[in-house]
Amino acid sequence: MGRSGSLESMSAPVNQTCPVEVDKARARFWFWLRNDAARLLWPSRCLACGECGDDALDLCPACARALPWNRCACPRCAIPLPAPALACGTCLQRPPRLAMVHATCVYAPPLDRLLPRFKFHHDLAAGRLLAQLMAETCVALPRPDALVPIPLHRARLRQRGYDQALELAKPLARALQLPLLEDLLLRMRPTAAQSELDAVARRRNLRNAFAVRGHQPLPAHVVLIDDVMTTGATLHAAAQALRRAGVARVDAWVCARVP
Ligand SMILES: [Zn+2]
Ligand SMILES: [Zn+2]
Repeated sequence: MGRSGSLESMSAPVNQTCPVEVDKARARFWFWLRNDAARLLWPSRCLACGECGDDALDLCPACARALPWNRCACPRCAIPLPAPALACGTCLQRPPRLAMVHATCVYAPPLDRLLPRFKFHHDLAAGRLLAQLMAETCVALPRPDALVPIPLHRARLRQRGYDQALELAKPLARALQLPLLEDLLLRMRPTAAQSELDAVARRRNLRNAFAVRGHQPLPAHVVLIDDVMTTGATLHAAAQALRRAGVARVDAWVCARVP
């Protein structure tokens, strides 16, 4: 036994590769082919200006430096503030239904180009970049039990072909390792485009627009995900539906806040 074992070990070629190593090498090759080779063939372009991008971000260094991060803002409504405060004047007077709102950026260049391209022109690469930016700032926030994207009504979804909030929430949930509940909220009726309405009409437009599906048990703390916050009427209507259904705390994370 010992003899044949030692003969085997002597006759085995020194560099014989075990199957696990072969699998690893194969995986490395495919990773290279998908990533590095693709970059050699199609070098990354800045999605904002078309200059050579940074491999890690799809933005050129100049556009990355110019990103309008929303660093100092009201924690209740994400409106930019000149100095840190517990809440802005409006939120102090009338505390909103959302416990906390975080906007990664202010709606300003280059976000005012990237967001419409993502939302109205099927540019899903811009969506991935926006989700990456959101992950960078949201990682430091209180962790919820689940992320809930603001749903589109199915008529609008058919028209557009994809749900921009869900397309942001999916990579965000993966990056932050949080559960994603994409079916928890339901848009009950098609609402008029919010951008065409004033603040009062926006609230009226959204009355009872959302319902919560019979998801049991309901998470205690959820974060709503949307692309842009203007007056917050959509987020507040969704938060109201969730609170009425029994969710104890509802926050919102958005990519950009319109000041
Ligand atoms: Zn650029
Ligand atoms: Zn506020």
